[in-house]
Amino acid sequence: MLGTVLRGPRDVRCEEVPEPKIVKPTDAIVRLSATCICGSDLWPFRGLNPITAPMAMGHEYCGVVEEVGSAVKTIRPGQFVVGSFCLSDNTCPHCRFGFQSSCVQREFMTGAQAPLARVPLADGTLVATAELPADDLIPSLLATSDVLGTGWYAADAARVQQGSTVVVVGDGAVGLMGVLAAKQMEAGRIIAMSRHKQRQELALEYGATDIVSERGEEGIARIRTLTNGVGADSVLECVGAKESMTQAIECARPGAMIGYVGVPHGVEFDGQQLFFSQRGLLGGPAPVRRFLPHLMEPVQDRKINPGKVFDLELPLAEVAEGYRAMDERRAIKVLLRV
Ligand SMILES: [Zn+2]
Repeated sequence: MLGTVLRGPRDVRCEEVPEPKIVKPTDAIVRLSATCICGSDLWPFRGLNPITAPMAMGHEYCGVVEEVGSAVKTIRPGQFVVGSFCLSDNTCPHCRFGFQSSCVQREFMTGAQAPLARVPLADGTLVATAELPADDLIPSLLATSDVLGTGWYAADAARVQQGSTVVVVGDGAVGLMGVLAAKQMEAGRIIAMSRHKQRQELALEYGATDIVSERGEEGIARIRTLTNGVGADSVLECVGAKESMTQAIECARPGAMIGYVGVPHGVEFDGQQLFFSQRGLLGGPAPVRRFLPHLMEPVQDRKINPGKVFDLELPLAEVAEGYRAMDERRAIKVLLRV
């Protein structure tokens, strides 16, 4: 079959790869309905993470179960399923505490930018729908697998509540999903930081009440003005860069929580500064499995439309163009038809 392989910086190819097979009795093989490119795929694509061997790319997926291993109990062939990019047993102490992304058996999904994927720990990782979903729901169901689950976690970790004032740093797909999540959690005010017209419009559509296009010191000053000098109750950091993290901490009020879901690159903290700032930080890979059932339901009821975040759709064969489009910020997020 054809699959996506990253061979070196900026060298991503759609090429012949072996079909996945059941390796462990807890595995499932899923025929994907669609797949996509993640903002985090751009880190190795840009050469910011070392590539020591060809990497099978892709960790966001949904589709129909084709085969299951002998130990799989709840997932059956023919079911439509969504899974998280973190593979988890959903039974260990960390899973039961709601942090499936720190599962004692955790593995990270790979190889999902392809027509078929192997999903380890199938019973713990996959969530099945009652029936096969309509085709037009596939982009939104695919979004629950990572980008919506991650934006949701940012809002959950930042303790967004009814009436909260929320700042979202980052207007990538995850940031936009953070806006959607804050709106669903009934935040009173949602300030999206974005300089791009198309992304600003989508942020407003997803529930942002204010847009701040300034960055750095100016951006921080603007948030201070908008919050009467107080700062935000909750801040969602959805980038992972030094500047965005500084922005997130500086925009928060004392006692606020910052949910940070952009994988940090070059971010460092000063202990004393953090101590006296009195702001809380909770982040890491999102425990999407915790939220999946709650996110798949409103998607199926057509109450939320996270799939709108895909603004470019390409066949798998053109995956390299998809990476370039996201790298050059010509596309927010690329859906791949397999
Ligand atoms: Zn676990």
